Amino acid sequence: MQRTSRRERILEKILSNVTVDEVSGCWIWQGGTSGAGRGGGYGRMCLDGQTVAVHIVMFTHAHGYKPSKKQVDHLCENRLCCNPDHLELVTHLENQRRKKTRQLRLEVRL
Ligand SMILES: [Zn+2]
Repeated sequence: MQRTSRRERILEKILSNVTVDEVSGCWIWQGGTSGAGRGGGYGRMCLDGQTVAVHIVMFTHAHGYKPSKKQVDHLCENRLCCNPDHLELVTHLENQRRKKTRQLRLEVRL
């Protein structure tokens, strides 16, 4: 029972800090982020005195345990999004491959 209420508290905390983008369906985090540098732009929150990545908390909440070797990728490419339907567990290699593909697409657009 206690576990359920903790999960609910976490979910509530996240949901009270997001706005839903009706076009993309993204849950955009409105709280703090990991900054503008390399590895930045991800939503951050405080949980039990620890700073954690919001999308990973959300992933764990929705889909269960995240193996430490796997990474959570944003299918919508919005780092601030924490809609569990937009998150997918991938290997580091797959994540790198996707990053490259997205980079190329970006260059084609420019
Ligand atoms: Zn999204």
